[in-house]
Amino acid sequence: MAPRSPFNPVETISLQSPSFSVDFSPKIGPSSDPEGPVKRWYHYLPLCAAILLILAPHPSWLYILVDYHLKTIHRPALFVTHLVVTYTLTFMIFSSLIVCVARDPGPVMLDDSKNGRGEEEDETLLTPHEDYSGPGRWCRKCWGPKPERTHHCSVCGRCVLKMDHHCPWLGGKCIGHRTYPAFLHFLLCITLLAIYIAVVCTFALWHAFGDPFAMNELMPLHAIFVTFFAVVFALVIGSFYGYHLYLVLINQTTIENLSPFLILRHLPPLPRTGHDLSDPPLEPELSRSQRHLVRDAHGYIRLYDVGWRRNFRQVFGWSHPYGWVATAMVWRADVRDGRTFPRNPKSDELLARLATELVKDDRR
Ligand SMILES: [Zn+2]
Ligand SMILES: [Zn+2]
Repeated sequence: MAPRSPFNPVETISLQSPSFSVDFSPKIGPSSDPEGPVKRWYHYLPLCAAILLILAPHPSWLYILVDYHLKTIHRPALFVTHLVVTYTLTFMIFSSLIVCVARDPGPVMLDDSKNGRGEEEDETLLTPHEDYSGPGRWCRKCWGPKPERTHHCSVCGRCVLKMDHHCPWLGGKCIGHRTYPAFLHFLLCITLLAIYIAVVCTFALWHAFGDPFAMNELMPLHAIFVTFFAVVFALVIGSFYGYHLYLVLINQTTIENLSPFLILRHLPPLPRTGHDLSDPPLEPELSRSQRHLVRDAHGYIRLYDVGWRRNFRQVFGWSHPYGWVATAMVWRADVRDGRTFPRNPKSDELLARLATELVKDDRR
């Protein structure tokens, strides 16, 4: 097959796009900046700490299983069940962690020579019909296009498709379009494992306090330690998972949820006269009351919310008949291309109303 010709921004952006005096050579995508941030060994320290935290209670947990379930209550079947459940979940935690750390979270343009990817992924390359002339659709740092919901991560020094957030705990990487399902899977499995272990240890502790002479005196100490650890994990990671589940159901990323002023770039064209606002308005030029209006509207305007079932399917790929199996076991990536997203038709009406209110407020 003939070599792919480099992407030419001139073909896709209109004359309103930023500074045309700058070099147009195709230096786009993750490998575009050779001076970009280099990852050093200490960037992996939080990841090592996270792995240590996950593994730390396991010696005590095994001690409880052997001492309580085998030696005290003599229930080998229960012992094996607990082993199978906890180590299946542990395996799932580590496999989704590996996906989060090793997988590219969302390359705007795939670099075939560097990533060793085949031609089957060619359709995710930039295509000339994609329009990057709209506000916020051109990254001035990578000097490259930004598809819908793509954001530039200043820590990674690159743009990431449907960027959710930058996570220092997972090897200092972004969580984006291609790693978000694995990230949710990671959080869910930790929460389930922590709840499971907390419940089992609570039963063992209950027995130990009721009949302290029936078992090894060290067992309750291990059980208290593991229960404390598991409850803290279940509360912290569980509430984080709950927040992300809410975001999946309303189809927002963490960035979209926490940055109300991002909706400004989606406003319809403002009337040409009678106000001093840019089109679209910029955050610094808004007055206090206008900022209030935007923050209020942000609570109601859900640009990509197309119903909770479809929102869920967008992330977990449940449109496939056995999609849920793949989701549960293989932590697969989003099946969509991560560049275009169906819009909530109601949001256009709300955006138009917000634009009118902002102009009205500016005239006062
Ligand atoms: Zn960028
Ligand atoms: Zn990042």
